[in-house]
Amino acid sequence: MALAGKEIKLIIGCDCEPVGDPIGPAAFSRRGRRENWDLAVRSLRTLTERLKTAVPSEFAPKLTILLRSDTYMNDVFGDYAYCARASYEFFDGLRSEGHEIGWHPHLWRWLNDRWTAEVNDVSFMKDCFGRGFNCLSDYFQAKSVRTGWNFMSNEIMYTLESLGLQADFSAQPGIKFQEITQGYGCDWIGAPTDFYFPSRGDYRTRSATDAVHLLEMPITLTETPDLVRWIRPIADRFRKIQRVPSRYEPLNIAKNLMFNKAAFFEAVSKCNARGMSCILTSFHPSDLTHARLFSMDFFIINMKFLVSLCRKEGVRLIGMTATQAAEEFLVTNSQE
Ligand SMILES: [Zn+2]
Repeated sequence: MALAGKEIKLIIGCDCEPVGDPIGPAAFSRRGRRENWDLAVRSLRTLTERLKTAVPSEFAPKLTILLRSDTYMNDVFGDYAYCARASYEFFDGLRSEGHEIGWHPHLWRWLNDRWTAEVNDVSFMKDCFGRGFNCLSDYFQAKSVRTGWNFMSNEIMYTLESLGLQADFSAQPGIKFQEITQGYGCDWIGAPTDFYFPSRGDYRTRSATDAVHLLEMPITLTETPDLVRWIRPIADRFRKIQRVPSRYEPLNIAKNLMFNKAAFFEAVSKCNARGMSCILTSFHPSDLTHARLFSMDFFIINMKFLVSLCRKEGVRLIGMTATQAAEEFLVTNSQE
């Protein structure tokens, strides 16, 4: 029996994009493969059906599906909002079941016959985001966003604010990496681990007086198992990634439970101390199609583990969308 007041809020984002972004050989092709998008939708359809029977309805998670809409999608599929248009009925159906549809823009740019992460040309970035958001708005009114590669800059923050978005959950506190060949990466060194309104001078800093009107909701971190932490520099060298070492990594709900247990126990102990805690996590449709570190089975296993842990500890597990969590935070904070 759950104790009154003890609850964990669970927010699950899905960076919803075709399986196989322009990485590896695909980095040199400007042709999009529709079957990669169809595979993403098929995986999500199967997952949402499986969740209905695998998880008791009172613990049912709500997904925040963040649809791609950006210059890359327009270049390869002829429509910024291809994902929303091609699969409108499926996503509208999920929305009517209580899930949320948000936005996931990337900054890929076709330059010198290959896809490159454009993280410097501010006018390209503004155009990509402005057009991407407007085209998605023909189908869904997105209020929440997660950026590709979790990339962020002050200019991107201002752009997201100007588009009227309410919540961003790109932040990964303490995580900084840079891929060398294509140029993608992110820098969240020093960012708070709980919700905050970012300073106009530095998106990684909380500001009470001069803040961007967009709530930043950082992804929950989990402690990386020691063995993986030792192996990571080798894998990074192979993938041409420079990384600031961290004991932690962002929680992915479709990753092997071995990685996620530490964050689940941490959420329960915070909840026991404060009466409430929050788990923010994310996954990609491509994670569901794997069968090693990530898989659809791991998503289900993680959910079942979390439900049984919460039952044992007498904690309510409440599935929420990103916008619901942001709105609840704003109401609670305005009362304080
Ligand atoms: Zn992405």
